[in-house]
Amino acid sequence: MIVNIAENLKVIKQKISEAEKRAGREAGSVKLMAVSKFHPSEDVISAIGAGQFLFGENRVQEAFEKFSPIIETHPQIELHMIGVLQSNKVKNAVKVASCIESVDRLSLLDEIEKQCAKINKQIKVLFEFHTGEESKSGFETEEELEQALTAIKEGKYPHIIPAGFMTMAPFTDDKERVRKSFILLRELSKRMKEKYPQFEMKELSMGMSGDFEIAIEEGSTLVRVGTAIFGERDYSK
Ligand SMILES: *Cc1c(COP(=O)(O)O)cnc(C)c1O
Repeated sequence: MIVNIAENLKVIKQKISEAEKRAGREAGSVKLMAVSKFHPSEDVISAIGAGQFLFGENRVQEAFEKFSPIIETHPQIELHMIGVLQSNKVKNAVKVASCIESVDRLSLLDEIEKQCAKINKQIKVLFEFHTGEESKSGFETEEELEQALTAIKEGKYPHIIPAGFMTMAPFTDDKERVRKSFILLRELSKRMKEKYPQFEMKELSMGMSGDFEIAIEEGSTLVRVGTAIFGERDYSK
């Protein structure tokens, strides 16, 4: 299968800008992340050549091997980790990423703080919240989330910058259920920003290849698009 990454990026950016317009949002208010998991370095380089600078990966080992050399030669690019993160993988994750979008439990903050302190780096985090019935990842309750934010507010995690929220909508063709999941995250984000005004938390990371236009209509600031840019993933590799 021949995939034209530059052309795909162009088409998606056009769709993003149309969705921004439809939603009455400012042009350029939505960032595009290219999710390159399971795709080789050459594809990432092609995307960079087409002007893409923000990437997402969900497995630390793969991200570390693929992106360490790319970041050496292309220091302008940014990588976010978006997958379930085991504590023993945090060390390499914080070396290569500028943001961990998949913070889904309080104990993960302890490990991120510890590893960032070692390399003297501040890192952005997004709190992943569980909004869809089938998807399993993310904080389940607002209480847990508030515990995390309160601990940061009290100075327990000086290397961690809370930058916003992330969610995955349920995998379904039912657009209204997908939309409901995005609305839930937007409203949660609003409540948290009111409760914790000291944190900017302006990112709402929601929307993937199949649902990014709905996500933009519901306030997404960051869409995570893989398949529509790089083609189908080959999970046999
Ligand atoms: C893989 C992945 C994406 C991209 O999915 P596509 O459907 O290929 O666009 C987005 N977000 C997360 C968390 C992912 O794991």
